[in-house]
Amino acid sequence: MNENLALALINSRWHKNYENHEILFDQNWVSERLFLPHQKSISLTEEEVQSLLDLRDMLLDCLTKKPTKAQLSALDERLKKNSYYPQMDIVDSDYKIKWIPTGSAFDTLISRIILAFYDLLEKDIFQNIKTCENELCHYSFIDHSKNQSKKFCSTRCNNYVKVKRFRSKNE
Ligand SMILES: [Zn+2]
Repeated sequence: MNENLALALINSRWHKNYENHEILFDQNWVSERLFLPHQKSISLTEEEVQSLLDLRDMLLDCLTKKPTKAQLSALDERLKKNSYYPQMDIVDSDYKIKWIPTGSAFDTLISRIILAFYDLLEKDIFQNIKTCENELCHYSFIDHSKNQSKKFCSTRCNNYVKVKRFRSKNE
């Protein structure tokens, strides 16, 4: 399953919680997790990293309180820096429409993140996004369970909290 790009950006704060360093300054991580395979050599300027950090804060805020109209307009506005035009491509002798971005690599990244976020809203997945209850983790994940009962992002976090509770009870 492909990770939603908006959640990938939001969850990049995990490293700050867990390892106390800002992973968005790590160019390798950014290329690996956020850019498309053919964009691996792109590096971000300091200003662009700051802009990603601001976007992350805003999306995180949207996630905890549901996005306001003003926040959505700000995101819409950001999308205007990049648009896509169609081009006919031949892939293995099949005709395929390819959408070519008009913006810079960074503006294209920003629109891909915002579109991924809009996808969560439109497909009604938004309400199924949970924050891991392990206070050291706080990873945002999509709860696919039927009764919406998942509290932890992984069994690792679940076990960690269980052990911790057990220990504090028995001390
Ligand atoms: Zn977790």
